[in-house]
Amino acid sequence: MQTNPKLKGQSALVTGASSGIGKAVAIALANEGANVVVGCSSHPEHGQQVADEIKANGGTAMVYQADVSNEEEVLAMFKAMYKEFGTIDILVNNAGLQKDSSFVDMTLADWQKVIDINLTGQFLCAREAAREFIRRGIVSERSAAAGKIIFMSSVHEVIPWAGHANYASSKGGIMLLMKSIAQELAPQKIRVNSIAPGAIQTPINKEAWETPEALNKLLTLIPYKRIGQPEDIGKVAVWLASDESDYITGATIFADGGMTLFPGFAGNG
Ligand code: NAD
Repeated sequence: MQTNPKLKGQSALVTGASSGIGKAVAIALANEGANVVVGCSSHPEHGQQVADEIKANGGTAMVYQADVSNEEEVLAMFKAMYKEFGTIDILVNNAGLQKDSSFVDMTLADWQKVIDINLTGQFLCAREAAREFIRRGIVSERSAAAGKIIFMSSVHEVIPWAGHANYASSKGGIMLLMKSIAQELAPQKIRVNSIAPGAIQTPINKEAWETPEALNKLLTLIPYKRIGQPEDIGKVAVWLASDESDYITGATIFADGGMTLFPGFAGNG
């Protein structure tokens, strides 16, 4: 735990926190003093390992297993969080997955699954958090804002992605969901922003970095010439959750080593 924690006494829910980016975000928020709900779906034992790591660092955490695309389970997760921590100050809407296929072979089930989890799941969690932020209002000893919502988007909210039409559509949807509710909730002092990671080394994109050939190919898309680490995203999440970013709402922070800079044009196009 930091000596002057930036999120002292605040409560945070991070969905999909049993692995990858969500795990790093949960640990980073807890290191800044937040009480953290480690949201997980299929592997509660992995969520427990994250909670144990947070507790070993002197932090506070609980694990909750819920499918973010299931409304009843989402409502029960928020209820359990309020029972344990009293309220919510920070939501990190991180849970997501890919079901890749060429467009003409994409099944309705694979389209629907990705939209249900990546987009509807983020809607359901954001709505519950916003309801609590509005009910409770600002607690000035904790934060200048009544609440903070952070969406885990992707560079694919702006970069089209052949073979991944469902995933790119879900992230493009997150972009306007985030901006629309940022506009709607700003008068209630609720800040809503997105992080758009580029290529971060996690289980979701293992085939893109597990061999030297795959990694070299990936690096041609990254001007900064390194793959991102989950901790790179944890740091951005802490900043967006803290009062240091109090005048930021409706923004997408691209954490991508320059992937969105059209690297193909670097050699004069
Ligand atoms: P990951 O597979 O390690 O994490 C995804 C998490 O979401 C897992 O913990 C999984 O259990 C959880 N999850 C999946 N379905 C769920 C459901 N129905 N309910 C609740 N939780 C569910 O991969 P990651 O890379 O850490 O991905 C985290 C987020 O970051 C995703 O939204 C992903 O789209 C986004 N992202 C990742 C990258 C990258 O390069 N890794 C880039 C851009 C965006």
